[in-house]
Amino acid sequence: MNFYIVSIDWGKKKRFACGCLEEVFNFNRTICLNCGIEIVAPNNDQLFEDKTWNVKMYMDRCHYADFINSQIRKIVSERAKEVLIDHFNNAVDFADIEMISLRDLTAEKLKAIRDWSGYTAVKKIPNDPPQYFRLLLKQGADLDFEKSNVELVLNCPTCGRKDYKHPIGNFNLETNETTWPPIYIIESSWKGYDIFYIEGKGNTVFCTERFFEIYSQNKLTGLEFRQISVS
Ligand SMILES: [Zn+2]
Repeated sequence: MNFYIVSIDWGKKKRFACGCLEEVFNFNRTICLNCGIEIVAPNNDQLFEDKTWNVKMYMDRCHYADFINSQIRKIVSERAKEVLIDHFNNAVDFADIEMISLRDLTAEKLKAIRDWSGYTAVKKIPNDPPQYFRLLLKQGADLDFEKSNVELVLNCPTCGRKDYKHPIGNFNLETNETTWPPIYIIESSWKGYDIFYIEGKGNTVFCTERFFEIYSQNKLTGLEFRQISVS
């Protein structure tokens, strides 16, 4: 079985839109009584898979891919959602996003965007963007920590937070799009999902050859694939 690490195709000739968070709902932050670290979901392992929080989102331009990058990992178009349900129903789930337009943004927000990214950035924000959905995935395989030179440095039994250390830096599950070199998946731990994430690899998405084939056959856009090693 061949596995791939999935990353964002930003657009070869013309840059694809990114999803920008305007507001996040029901995203509760509390301090874990055991490890003292701020946690953002009942269990940090499920941060990206938690359906109870939701977002209001605008697009930063109007060239739309089927898989789009946002601060909350990947989001998918209606068509990509249909293909995923048709072929990978056991591996995926979705949560709604409230899509908003340029005209919905407050003067204060527009000023902040202008100050941060310039006047042209505001002009590119579209009205009436298409509907996108949060893509929720499951943990589908284990990383060979020893071979990948990754050390588990915190494993909190109360909040579920796990922190990892690698010679090139420290990572935790919440924030990191990590590219630990090399990457080894333990093939025998694979649970059979064609698209999944791996504990210890932050919000990085992995897939199988079958996912890559269906993605290509359906001419979906927005992703890049790099084959990785298995052990
Ligand atoms: Zn904790």
